[in-house]
Amino acid sequence: MENLIQLVNKIQRACTALGDHGEDGKEGAVPTLWDALPSIAVVGGQSSGKSSVLESIVGKDFLPRGSGIVTRRPLVLQLHKIDEGREYAEFMHLPRKKFTDFAAVRQEISDETDRETGRTKGISSVPIHLSIYSPHVVNLTLVDLPGLTKVAVDGQPDSIVQDIENMVRAFIEKPNCIILAISPANQDLATSDAIKISREVDPKGERTFGVLTKIDLMDKGTDAVDILEGKAYKLNFPWIGVVNRSQADINKNVDMIAARRREQEYFETTPEYRHLASRMGSVHLGKVLSKHLETVIKSRIPGLQSLISKTIMDLEMELNRIGKPIAADTGGKLYTVMEICRSFDQIFKDHLDGIRPGGDKIYQVFDNQFPAALKRLHFDKHLSMDTVRKLITEADGYQPHLIAPEQGYRRLIESCVVSIRGPAEAAVDMVHGILKDLIKTSMSETLASNSLFIFIFCELKQYPTLKVELGAAANESLERMREESKRATLQLVDMECAYLTIDFFRKLPQDAEKGGNPTHSLFDRYSDAYLRRIATTVLSYVNMVCASLRNTIPKSVVYCQGKQLSALLNEDPAVMQRRTSLARRLELYRNAQAEIEAVAWDK
Ligand code: GDP
Ligand code: MG
Repeated sequence: MENLIQLVNKIQRACTALGDHGEDGKEGAVPTLWDALPSIAVVGGQSSGKSSVLESIVGKDFLPRGSGIVTRRPLVLQLHKIDEGREYAEFMHLPRKKFTDFAAVRQEISDETDRETGRTKGISSVPIHLSIYSPHVVNLTLVDLPGLTKVAVDGQPDSIVQDIENMVRAFIEKPNCIILAISPANQDLATSDAIKISREVDPKGERTFGVLTKIDLMDKGTDAVDILEGKAYKLNFPWIGVVNRSQADINKNVDMIAARRREQEYFETTPEYRHLASRMGSVHLGKVLSKHLETVIKSRIPGLQSLISKTIMDLEMELNRIGKPIAADTGGKLYTVMEICRSFDQIFKDHLDGIRPGGDKIYQVFDNQFPAALKRLHFDKHLSMDTVRKLITEADGYQPHLIAPEQGYRRLIESCVVSIRGPAEAAVDMVHGILKDLIKTSMSETLASNSLFIFIFCELKQYPTLKVELGAAANESLERMREESKRATLQLVDMECAYLTIDFFRKLPQDAEKGGNPTHSLFDRYSDAYLRRIATTVLSYVNMVCASLRNTIPKSVVYCQGKQLSALLNEDPAVMQRRTSLARRLELYRNAQAEIEAVAWDK
């Protein structure tokens, strides 16, 4: 049965490793397991004795002390009973470092608190995970929370009082949280912060354990018998009284184990409490909590199992919806694939940027092939006297033009510019071809430089699939970009047809200035000399357009095909991120499912 608590410990640690500490109530948040796991949270006012109770249960000094708000982050304390050997502690944020010096544990808790809250003395709900392995503990998971206060102390914002209360409430209002409500016996219970807040979230007291501290400090002539016997302030579970070390004991370094013994003696020898001694004290408290936690976990297992299966289904559904990038079925593999894709992306970019060879071929297209293709259009030949006459007369229709053949100009220009579409399209295709080759090269380079990853994939016999999928994904994007690039590039050409640059014509020397006769006869109007002049004008206009397209077409090609290729395999970082976090979450749930099944079977 002990392994039930170990099981929950394990899952809790996995949750924290994933950054899942149960506060993602936000819409669209990845589901959390944390909230569904039972835990015990320690609540109470400041200096009510929370830290002392925790240390007493553990039998070790290890919590930071001092005045003011010392506990500023939740501390998830997992106790693991070991059969023999030296006790040690481990932080989850420092894996593989074993602490045997508990003063160093205390220092690390306080350093790690500052790391998150940035020494501002603010609070944070991101927990610190501490595991203690010892022969003197029972298996138990406890969460130490900041103490409830009434006033902010120097340097702290006034909101801290409310912030702490909100954080504590957020923890203990979860139905799976067992509340350890700490109240000092030397204060009126009517003023107990712990009782007040736990009543609020658990009015029937179904999951609240009352702990009365400082019994030794009560005024002479008063005692806590009525409370401990359940006659006053009755809770669902019996009150447990404890006597922790006083400040003087702490200053004198009174050993915890000795303090526990002294506590037991106190209850056994004080006449008022003698009859209650067997169910008082920290050792008893630890046992009661451990037993209770086990019962709760046991009762929650079926619910947990169905929650997990349902969540696995939801996660799988969403992952299917946003599409699996590569055939990978667990978070780890997915991560590997992402790594490979990233490195592929980088190598590919290196080729384009000239860090690796090949990208210069693209420049060759813009600098040589495309201009040469434009030249081959031979606009001068296209603008033969016959063509010019034909288009001008056609445009004039039944009414010969009066001053300038406006429509004729337009048709002539259009007839030339339209032919640029061919070379423009060819340039897009040539760049596409080069990029395709670069992808092939990058692919082999990626696979060579990630031989470790590839090794894993070979092991998994999935390497061929990976290669095929990666290549397919890259080529698919490339194909899409080619279409986009064509559309944008041809649009540039069409734009030149749709609107002529007026300035060019304004600057043309007028016939009159050149000594021509503005009042041609109808026949003059179609004379060779006149048409030749029109052809020359059109040609120089078309040449101007060509020159400008020579500059703009490479820009559009690079914009559509080159630049966007940087986002080749991870088109949308948000989607990729979500996919990764869903996949990791899925892995957590699958592992949890397997582990719970194993425990549930040998129960
Ligand atoms: P926390 O702020 O709730 O964590 O309270 P601490 O555990 O730090 O205790 C506050 C002070 O009360 C410390 O000086 C403790 O030594 C002292 N204290 C706590 N419990 C007892 C107790 O049962 N008896 C005596 N005499 N002192 C106690
Ligand atoms: Mg404390």
